[in-house]
Amino acid sequence: MVKVVKFGGSSLASAEQFMKAGDIVRSDESRRYVVPSAPGKRSSKDTKVTDMLYSCYALAEAGEEFRIPLMKIKDRYDSIINGLQLKTTLEDEFKKIAADFKNKIGVEYAASRGEYLNGIIMADYLGYEFIDAATVIFFDEAGNFDVERTDRVLSKKLETCEKAVIPGFYGAMPDGTIRTFSRGGSDITGSIVAKACRASMYENWTDVSGCLVADPRVIENPQPIKVITYRELRELSYMGASVLHEDAVFPVRKAGIPINIRNTNAPDDDGTLIVESTCQKPEYTITGIAGKKGFVAVNIDKDMMNAEVGFCRKALQAFEEHGISIEHMPSGIDTMTVFVHQAEFEGKEQQVISSLRRLANPDVIDLEADLALIAVVGRGMKSTRGTAGRIFSALAHANINVRMIDQGSSELNIIIGVGNNDFDAAIRAIYDIFVETRL
Ligand code: ASP
Repeated sequence: MVKVVKFGGSSLASAEQFMKAGDIVRSDESRRYVVPSAPGKRSSKDTKVTDMLYSCYALAEAGEEFRIPLMKIKDRYDSIINGLQLKTTLEDEFKKIAADFKNKIGVEYAASRGEYLNGIIMADYLGYEFIDAATVIFFDEAGNFDVERTDRVLSKKLETCEKAVIPGFYGAMPDGTIRTFSRGGSDITGSIVAKACRASMYENWTDVSGCLVADPRVIENPQPIKVITYRELRELSYMGASVLHEDAVFPVRKAGIPINIRNTNAPDDDGTLIVESTCQKPEYTITGIAGKKGFVAVNIDKDMMNAEVGFCRKALQAFEEHGISIEHMPSGIDTMTVFVHQAEFEGKEQQVISSLRRLANPDVIDLEADLALIAVVGRGMKSTRGTAGRIFSALAHANINVRMIDQGSSELNIIIGVGNNDFDAAIRAIYDIFVETRL
C-alpha cells in the first residue's frame, strides 16, 4: 500500500507544525511520498512565504533593493531548521537565489523556491530522498501540464525510490525553465504524484477536518462531510466551497484513487473522503450547501418565444459577444432568464441590452440585481422523496422569497435564487432542516 501525503502551507508554517507533519508521516509506513507546500501563515496577521517571494522578486525586477526582504524569507526557513535541530543549511541556496533574482530569472522560478526549500528541509527531517520537481513534473511548449512525459518520468523515478519528498507547485518547461501551477497548485502536484505511483490514497493535510456541510462563516460549527463524490465536490466548489485546488481532482479521479482531506492539527479526525462513487448512504439527505452572492437576473420576454426556433441561441449570443459568462438559465414558455455575475455585467449592461434587441428582438428586457445563488447538493436527494418540498417550506418559514429554482437534470443539486440580503438566512434555514433536525 502506498499513500501520497501533501501538506498545505499552514501545516508547515513553523517547526512545531513540521513536527506534527513528521509524526503523521512516521505513524504510517505506507506514507512514502510527501509533497510539501511553502511555509504558510503562522497566524492570521502573518504572510505566506510564497507571497513574500512574489513581492521580493517584484523589487528585484524593478532594480530595487531586495536583499533585506530576501533575508527575511531566509529567517523563516532558518527558524524552522533551528526548531527542528537539523544540520541543513540553506546558505548556498540563498546565495544562488539572490544571484538569480539579480539576473531577473523569472517570477515563476521565484515563487517556486518556497516549495523547493521547504522540500529540502522536509526531506532532511524525515530522512527521505529529495526529488526536485523540475526533474519529474513537466510542462509543454505552450505552458500546459505535460501529462504523458510527467507520467513516464515520474513513475520510473518513483519505482526506484522507496521514500521521497517532491515539492509541490512547480515543474519545468521543455527548455528547463521553471513554471508554476496556479496558486494553491501543490494540491495538483500531490495528485500527479499519487497517480504516478498508483497510490491507494492521496492524503491532503490541511488545517480543517475536511469539507464542511456549510460555510463556517454562515453556520457556527457546521458538521463535516464524511464521504463526498467528485461530482458533488465539483458542484460545491464551483459555488465557492473550496478545500482543494479544482485541477487537483483530475489526475487521481482518472486513476480511481480516493482523496482524504485531513487536519494536521487534529490527526485523529477522519476528515473527508472524496471518491468516484459510493453506495454509502450519506449521513444527511443533503451532502452540502454552498452559494455565492452578486448576480443579476436578465429577464427576457417575447410572445410566442417557444415557437421561434433559435431564439435562445440569438439571446445567448448577445452575452457571448460581450464576453459575459452565463451562470444559470431557467426558462418559461414565453420567457427566459439569464443569470450573470453582477461585477462582470454591470459595466456592459447597456451594450448587452442593445445586442439583445438587435439579435433577438424581445418584447421586454428586465434586469434584477443583488441576487444570490445557493446550491443544495447531494447524491441522496435523487432517492429521497420531498427534498425540494422541505427546502422550500423551510425557506417559506424563514420568510424568504425564492426568486429562482433550478434543479439539475442529474438531480444532484437544486439551485435556489434569493436576494443577497436573504443569503445567510436561507443557508441557515436549509441547514437547520436537514442537519439540525435531520428531517
Ligand atoms: N505556495 C503556493 C501558494 O501559496 C502553492 C500552494 O501552497 O499550494 O499558492
